[in-house]
Amino acid sequence: MNKITKVDNCNELASDIDPEPEPEPEPEPEPEPEPEPEPEPEPDEDKIAILKLIDENPHIKSIILNNDMIKNPEKIKGIIFHKGKPPGLHECSRCDEYKSSENYNYYTNRVDKNKYLMRSNAVCKNCTKISDLERKQTLTKAAKNNEIPPKPKQGDICPNCNKSWGTIENTRNWHRDHDAIKSKFRGWLCGNCNMAMHDHFLNKS
Ligand SMILES: [Zn+2]
Ligand SMILES: [Zn+2]
Repeated sequence: MNKITKVDNCNELASDIDPEPEPEPEPEPEPEPEPEPEPEPEPDEDKIAILKLIDENPHIKSIILNNDMIKNPEKIKGIIFHKGKPPGLHECSRCDEYKSSENYNYYTNRVDKNKYLMRSNAVCKNCTKISDLERKQTLTKAAKNNEIPPKPKQGDICPNCNKSWGTIENTRNWHRDHDAIKSKFRGWLCGNCNMAMHDHFLNKS
């Protein structure tokens, strides 16, 4: 028998050579195509850096775990590096005494130019207690005397910076500003102005 040179898709040629060709084998079923893998999202360099950082720094991980953010690392907007509370003594703007950092409250997410945590309050913890009480009493008294207008709505204009504050989707807090010297309610402020007022007060010391 002549050797059949199998030529795909050319049955006639095969018949010419061998009058009794072997039956064509059943065509192999086409293999199921592998499901297309989901396209990988573009790697976000920031996110990769953050996740690597979390991995390498268990203490950061514990902070983030506590904040329940590790489940949603895409919600992490950044990581702040700090050197902790600043050393030395710091003046309280109320009692004018110089005290160590244990006597002050600090932000966990704001740092000064030297990477030390910033004080959240220009006054020492002891004076904070006193001024909190004063603020509470002032605002309670003002409320009793109907001196506090209704709280602005989301999106209303801040009387200090003339900018809209908050939206229905992204609600922001309005802050009651009070004059500690005159013990009077001063007005509603947006968060930015409240914070700026705070920083101004802080930097006076
Ligand atoms: Zn003090
Ligand atoms: Zn404002």
